[in-house]
Amino acid sequence: MTPLIKEILRLPPDSREVTIRGWVRTKRELKNITFLEVNDGSCMAGIQCAFALSPDGGCGENQKTLAAISTGASVEVLGKLVPSPASGQPVEVAASSAALVGEAPGTADDAAGGPSYPLQKKRHSMEFLREIPHLRPRTNTFGAVARVRSRVAFAVHEFFQERGYQYIHTPIITASDAEGAGSMFQVTTLDLAALARSGGEVDYSKDFFGKKTGLTVSGQLEAETYAAALSRVYTFGPTFRAENSNTTRHLAEFWMIEPETAFTRLEGNMDLAEDFLKFIFDKALNECGAELEFFDAHIQKGIIETLRQVVESRFSRISYTDAIKELEKAGTAGASFEFKPYWGCDLQSEHEKYLTGTAAKGPVIVADYPAEIKAFYMKQNDDGKTVRAMDVLVPRLGEIIGGSEREENLGRLESRMRELGMNCADYGWYLDLRRFGTVPHSGFGLGFERLIQYITGMANIRDVIPFPRAAGQAGF
Ligand code: ATP
Ligand code: MN
Repeated sequence: MTPLIKEILRLPPDSREVTIRGWVRTKRELKNITFLEVNDGSCMAGIQCAFALSPDGGCGENQKTLAAISTGASVEVLGKLVPSPASGQPVEVAASSAALVGEAPGTADDAAGGPSYPLQKKRHSMEFLREIPHLRPRTNTFGAVARVRSRVAFAVHEFFQERGYQYIHTPIITASDAEGAGSMFQVTTLDLAALARSGGEVDYSKDFFGKKTGLTVSGQLEAETYAAALSRVYTFGPTFRAENSNTTRHLAEFWMIEPETAFTRLEGNMDLAEDFLKFIFDKALNECGAELEFFDAHIQKGIIETLRQVVESRFSRISYTDAIKELEKAGTAGASFEFKPYWGCDLQSEHEKYLTGTAAKGPVIVADYPAEIKAFYMKQNDDGKTVRAMDVLVPRLGEIIGGSEREENLGRLESRMRELGMNCADYGWYLDLRRFGTVPHSGFGLGFERLIQYITGMANIRDVIPFPRAAGQAGF
């Protein structure tokens, strides 16, 4: 394999012969020289290839090839690596030959009025680019998002593996619904058209799995079984929610990271979440510097400073009850909230922004939420009202992580499930974890795309995953 442009840009300009392969971003033609900027997606920068043309119009072969090359063409350039006179780039290629690898966009069809390359050198709207998910990775923005995604995914594994966590693959097709009904996609091989015609009841015992199944909304319950055996585990996989909410923060298919730690209570879980975010942001700052500079300059001003501040901050910790008191006080002191905060309400995004912005001026972990607004498996506090839940809130975005200590007491868990009208028999396996060798344990869930959104400053979650799936949107 020939070296990538990323590697070539780090070499000294010692006139060595190099081969550049990539896609043309721009072509500039001056009188005696033509410049091609070639990018291969290995890094933010492209490499400049300069073709000196003889004044009498010589250098014939090259000139013919260059004439056929336009933006988007795939090329192979041979030349010598020399110091660059242009600022901002240490080296460039004094090119001796160029070859078109594939057909040049536009050229073949132009005469016939055919299509030209959709990504001409200009700013395109995110909406336009969303319509061409097969070409948008060739833009600076989407190339940068893809590289950050890749590096941060690796950092997620580094973080947990360095701390003794085992990577567990939880099922994608599941017969249990961790979050309660409503948001699950059904998986079936039943003939829906025939069922519709018959008008009868659906008999799920005739379905592929002999029962009703769906795509997972969370791997947590399954991860708990492995935490009760391997002590420290994490999942990192696709998650599906049939949420019809058309927001900039929700996808129907996203990737979730869920650590689960045995012998650990809520405080240890908070420490883990805080260490995790700091580790990830620090890696992004150190390993994706060029990309973050790009996002800071073109997508969201101040993103680098925000990430640095989170890395250096000490996360504030506050109980839900105190957070509500603070919000109520702010309300009477003149802060205007659209939703009036009261004990028992779910924190709205404006409340989260007040807590991280005005109040704490940094990340905040809110703990001990009212049981009614949280899931059945969370550990009940002795006050009979609250559970050991935690949300990590960060400036600008609000909730980035949701987690809890799990109820490890069989009797208390069963009575809570009955209170909620759940059928304990369906969860025999889950309750067994409390019957046999139960231990305190805690975990949290973090949407990978929300993390990438936070790091890149991208406004819409559909632009931080290669092929977004959302209500009404599943392009190929
Ligand atoms: P929200 O209130 O934002 O919908 P949630 O309370 O439904 O979040 P959880 O069920 O706690 O979220 O899921 C854990 C994490 O998964 C969230 O903190 C968030 O980072 C992420 N997440 C949840 N739903 C989605 C979604 N539809 N698309 C992308 N990420 C999501
Ligand atoms: Mn949700």
